[in-house]
Amino acid sequence: MTTLDHLTASSYGQFFKCPAQWDYVHNQGIKIPPGIAAHVGSGLHGAAEANFRQKIVTGVDLPASDLADAAATKYRERVEKDGVLCARDDRPALGRLLSEGVDRAVEFSRVLAATVAPLYRPASVEQFVKYQGPELPVTWVGYIDLTTADNKLVDWKTAGKRWPKGREHKENQATIYRKLFVADRGIEPAATVFEVFFDSKDGAKRDDRTTVRDDADWVALQHGAGIMLRMIEHGDFPPCPPGSWNCSPVWCGLWWVCRHISERQRRLPNV
Ligand code: SF4
Repeated sequence: MTTLDHLTASSYGQFFKCPAQWDYVHNQGIKIPPGIAAHVGSGLHGAAEANFRQKIVTGVDLPASDLADAAATKYRERVEKDGVLCARDDRPALGRLLSEGVDRAVEFSRVLAATVAPLYRPASVEQFVKYQGPELPVTWVGYIDLTTADNKLVDWKTAGKRWPKGREHKENQATIYRKLFVADRGIEPAATVFEVFFDSKDGAKRDDRTTVRDDADWVALQHGAGIMLRMIEHGDFPPCPPGSWNCSPVWCGLWWVCRHISERQRRLPNV
């Protein structure tokens, strides 16, 4: 029987995307390297962290060239440390894809420097926060990317295209981080903002998406987490629903070892 002492937004999201994948990673210890897109996100986080950590003390933003260096350095560090998930068909082009990845991270850092960094006066950067409530026998933990002097909670996101309308209201992370913020500060965040950096035909762009959560959202999420804990306790790890976009050799690093993939599914085009 598996016992769990803490939960994160990403673990919760992974479980409900594919419980079988969660089992492989968290119970069987199989590591899935991040894809290039995730490394680009790490690069942007590295640039934001470098800027806002020092801005707490100095009150001024770093030059764009410093943020570009920080983004490229963080991207390369993560690739070296964690490896990279690459579909078999893409392996011959891996060198080019990795080099395009570092260029994207740098482009996003330039947008950060030009349009986003001046907007925020930081109060904390990459702060570790936890919450143990009466609802469940586990602690929720997370690193909040940025909180501001005017009590905003900010999270950095990267995407291949502009988020669809309303996507910010569907992110469970906002409900979890709002609770962590309240547990840490004793007040509601003034706003929860996703700063989304994305590619467009005119180059890298950014969009700010604001959402509001309340206790009703938290109760609903705890209901889901309770189901998750019961399934884990019973060793119940079904595969994701047939036809799920994430169940493919491009998006799931466990595709080639997953025992849940039927022979028919393995014969789909592009597999
Ligand atoms: S291949 Fe599909 S069913 Fe198997 S772990 Fe990955 S997403 Fe889940």
